[in-house]
Parts: sequence; C-alpha cells; structure tokens
Amino acid sequence: MKYDVVIVGSGPAGSVTARFAAESGVKVLIVERRKEVGVPVLCGEGISRKIDEWNVIEGTRWIASNMDGARIYSPDGTMVKLGAEMAGNETGYVIYRDIFDQELARQAIKAGVKIMMNTNATGLIKEKDRIKGVRVKQFDDEFEIEADIVVGADGVESKIGKWAGINTTLKPKDLETCAQYTLSNIECNDAYCDFYLGKEIAPGGYVWVFPKGKDVANVGIGILASLSESGMAKKLLDKFIENNSNLKSGEPIRFLAGSVPVSNPVETVRDNLLLVGDAARHVDPITGGGLTHCLEGGKIAGETIGDAVDRQQFDQETLSQYEIGWKEAFGRKIKRNYMVKELLLDFDDKTLNMLADSLKDVKFEEVSTLGLVKALVFKHPTLLMKLKPLMKISSEAKE
Ligand SMILES: Cc1cc2nc3c(=O)[nH]c(=O)nc-3n(C[C@H](O)[C@H](O)[C@H](O)COP(=O)(O)OP(=O)(O)OC[C@H]3O[C@@H](n4cnc5c(N)ncnc54)[C@H](O)[C@@H]3O)c2cc1C
Repeated sequence: MKYDVVIVGSGPAGSVTARFAAESGVKVLIVERRKEVGVPVLCGEGISRKIDEWNVIEGTRWIASNMDGARIYSPDGTMVKLGAEMAGNETGYVIYRDIFDQELARQAIKAGVKIMMNTNATGLIKEKDRIKGVRVKQFDDEFEIEADIVVGADGVESKIGKWAGINTTLKPKDLETCAQYTLSNIECNDAYCDFYLGKEIAPGGYVWVFPKGKDVANVGIGILASLSESGMAKKLLDKFIENNSNLKSGEPIRFLAGSVPVSNPVETVRDNLLLVGDAARHVDPITGGGLTHCLEGGKIAGETIGDAVDRQQFDQETLSQYEIGWKEAFGRKIKRNYMVKELLLDFDDKTLNMLADSLKDVKFEEVSTLGLVKALVFKHPTLLMKLKPLMKISSEAKE
C-alpha cells in the first residue's frame, strides 16, 4: 500500500491538512483509531468567529449557538465584558464538535482523501533513518502503509513526533487537566461565554460556562497539572456547580475528562515528516484553545505538502515552508501568550481582583493598548510594577 501522504488522526488538524493536500492533487490517506470521527467529544466547543474568513468549513449544521462575547469573572465576582472580536480563540460560536469534525472530514473526502477507521498507528517505518511510512493495526491485522510524507495529527498524546526523535514531552506546568459536564435544565438567557478565575476556583486555569442552547451549557474546568492531584479537577468543578444557584439544578447529559498542552510549540518538521495541531502543541497557552490553529496550520501544512509532492522533494528544508508559515500566522502569538501565562501564574487573587476592577468599565473596542495600560494603573497604581513585564512582552511582540 503506497500513498503520497499518510496522516495519523482525523481531528480538525488531520482533516484540514488532508483536504488542502488533496486539493493540490496529492494522494492522501488518513488513519484513525476511533470508530467514528469526532467521537467521543473532548472539547469545550468554543471557537472564534475568525473562522468565517478562512473558508475551511461549509454550512451551519455544526453551530450550536452564536455568542455576543465573553465575560471574565475575577475571584471576588467582578466582571469584565469583551465583545466576540476581542475575546480570543474560544468565543464566537459554541459548536457541536462531533458534527464539526465530521464536516471537516467530509470535505477532505470530497477532495479525494481516503480514511481508514479503527486503525491504530503503532510505529514508523524507517529505512536507514529515513521515514517511509507507518505501521498500523486494524482489528487483528497488522500491516505497513508506505508514504513519502507522514503527518502526525494525533493530538495531545501524540506518539508520531516522539517516534521521529522529536522531544514532545510535556512538563506538568505545561499541561492543563480538564473535566467538563454538558449540563441541561439550566437557564442560559445571555449569549456570553463565561470564564471564572481564582486560585480556589481553578488553580492555574479557569472554569468555563459555554451555552449551547437556552437550557444547556458546557460547564468545564482546566487546572494546571503541576498544581493538581488525582481527581481534583472534577472535585473543584462539582464544588463550583454546587455553589452556583443556576447550575445547581442542572443534570449532566455528557461528562468528559481530557488534557490540553499549554506549552511552546515543538519542532514541527523533519525529513518526510510534519506535526500539526495539538501534536505540534499549537494551542494558545493562556486559553487552552487549539481549534483555530488546527485550521490555520492545517491549511498551511496541506499546501506545503502539495508543493513538496509536485517537486518530489520531501526533505526538511522543503517542508520547512510549513514551519515558516505557521510561525508567521500564529507563532509569535503563542510565544507571547506562553510568557503571559507564566506571569499570570504569579498573580494572586487580590491582584486578579484589582485587574478586573480596573478593566470592568473599559470599552475595549475603543481603547488602544496604551489606553488599556493607563486604565489598568489609574485605579490601582500598585499594578504598575506587576504589569511591567507584561507591557514589555506586548511591545516586543508588536501585535
Ligand atoms: C476539555 C477540553 C476542552 C477544550 N475546549 C476547547 C475549546 O473550547 N476551544 C478550542 O479551540 N479548543 C479546545 N480544546 C482543545 C481542542 O480540543 C484541541 O486543540 C483540538 O482537538 C486539537 O485537534 P487535533 O486535530 O490536533 O487533535 P484531536 O482532535 O485530538 O485529534 C487527534 C486524533 O488522532 C487520533 N489518534 C491519536 N493517536 C492515534 C494513533 N496512534 N493512530 C490512529 N489515530 C490516532 C485520535 O483518535 C483523534 O481522533 C479543548 C480540549 C479539551 C481536552
């Protein structure tokens, strides 16, 4: 069995990479260990409306609800409101992630991609250190699939990068442990994604409430693994729900547990190999959102593959067009947000309350970065010292 490209994983990163490669005339196979694309769902299902501009997904079947923006609550309950454009990677739509993933896979198939379900990649085929494809297990059969390029789109637990000799190990301080209920029988009258911060609420992370309809929402928590212990995410989430009069009456129709990398990206290109999506650690380290980067990065990866196959060159230098592309698109943002994440970890609840108090009346759409900093320190001058490193990072990132 021989393809131009074999992609391990049919998540958003794998399907979008596959589609854009196939649209350039490349023969693509996806192998997926699950029995159904996108199932089980492991996601808060929030995504920025930026994706409307990218033309990567058709129709609206995957949209559960349209959001007006985000509300961020500090530990003492002070609320800061952001419009959808300002609210980062997770606010714009709340989606049905299973339908979303299946829609992306369907578009890849329409472009000519083949998918093998129930097929687990168990290793790389190498010849004199050169990657030549993947070994897979499908039910009781084990066989090899040859390819000029292998793409690791195998998510947070990615093995493809490790098998290729890339250090993909995540330190506990770079991993969020998450739990989430989809709660029904609650009231979601406002079209806002809510985020709750605080050391007692979610150490090193936050609780989110993302409405999926009038009476149903994803209520989840992410806490930093370095500040966590076994079972803690679920315990804190249960406590949060118990203390919230609206959520307390809810009954779960889904529970999930999973993890999110909040590190810097890893090396994403070797001879005959690319890593995309969570496997590449392309997640926003502050919010833990990865979907938009899967779509943006997947498109760049697919187009790079198209070019490489056209030229029949599969070396690291040719494929590094992909790394240059994603660094330009969102690399600086991830780097900056990683530094911000590290700084925010040192902020105690009192500082978070002061920040929220300074920001609660700011109209973000009308204010410049400098105006924002002025607003921050105007009410609480002591914040100036704490925010100095943040200001330096922002001006260096020039974004
Ligand atoms: C609790 C939680 C909440 C989240 N909330 C949000 C959110 O609201 N917004 C947002 O933007 N992001 C969110 N994320 C992150 C987002 O889900 C990921 O960034 C996204 O799923 C990454 O997509 P991917 O295609 O890289 O990997 P995945 O979607 O994880 O897909 C990887 C695929 O590879 C397959 N696979 C793995 N190993 C093998 C193998 N050996 N052989 C064959 N197949 C294999 C898997 O079965 C899977 O289908 C959340 C994550 C979690 C855990």
